[in-house]
Amino acid sequence: MRDIILEAVNMVKVYNENTENAFEALHGINFRVYDGDFIAVMGPSGSGKSTFINNISTIDRPTSGKVYIHNTDVSTMSEEEIGRFRYENLGFIFQAFNLLDTHTLYENIAMPLSLARRSVDEIHDRVHSLAKTMNIEEALQKYPNECSGGQRQRAAICRALVNDPKLIVADEPTGNLDSKNSAELLKIFRKLNEEMGVTIVMVTHDPLITSYADKLIYIRDGRIETELERGPMTQETFFSAITEINSAESKGLLKS
Ligand code: ADP
Repeated sequence: MRDIILEAVNMVKVYNENTENAFEALHGINFRVYDGDFIAVMGPSGSGKSTFINNISTIDRPTSGKVYIHNTDVSTMSEEEIGRFRYENLGFIFQAFNLLDTHTLYENIAMPLSLARRSVDEIHDRVHSLAKTMNIEEALQKYPNECSGGQRQRAAICRALVNDPKLIVADEPTGNLDSKNSAELLKIFRKLNEEMGVTIVMVTHDPLITSYADKLIYIRDGRIETELERGPMTQETFFSAITEINSAESKGLLKS
């Protein structure tokens, strides 16, 4: 049996709590991520995907319920503890890359290690070794606005990996990439998952991207409506099943 890396128990998120605009975006979600999982989260716009990913990954705090990462209850940690826990255990990849424009790619990638006060030599070796794997070594001294979208996203991946996290959380990681760079990113994700044992949870709206994952979580109206494991399915069959689930959604929209 694989270890549980992350567990959400009865996770509820209410925005604008105690006001007349209170809105319950997640209704008591139970969810587990096992070591080595590669999970794609899908669902209609406004269904709660970003809320879900933010609340399982310490970016936001659930209104009630618990979130455990590596058996640690992160829902009750102080801001300071959460900051530290995040640097030590999680890697984030966002659609907008979130690189600092005033820093070179090298400095951006090195930042989590600098914050953790690692030695200059260690930082140098780690940044160069990751940059080599991601094929952006030649761009390390450039600023983000001098780089292509693909290079920026690969730098963001290096930064997410620099601390050796066991869990990567990604929100629409291919959202700003063309199809060639999206395909490249997915190959990198598969490699991280299969060869380096990194566990990945990512939000995407693209069935093709989901077909690279091992499991689909489909969210609707703040609830997990469907969970689909790839199991022995080929990528092609899994892709068809994912498309089916998504097109059921579109048909629903047509009827209403
Ligand atoms: P998705 O990522 O699936 O598009 P979100 O998680 O962004 O969905 O949003 C889920 C629901 O919560 C939506 O109805 C949205 O309007 C609402 N919501 C999201 N963020 C906030 C917020 N900060 N304040 C109030 N409502 C929010």
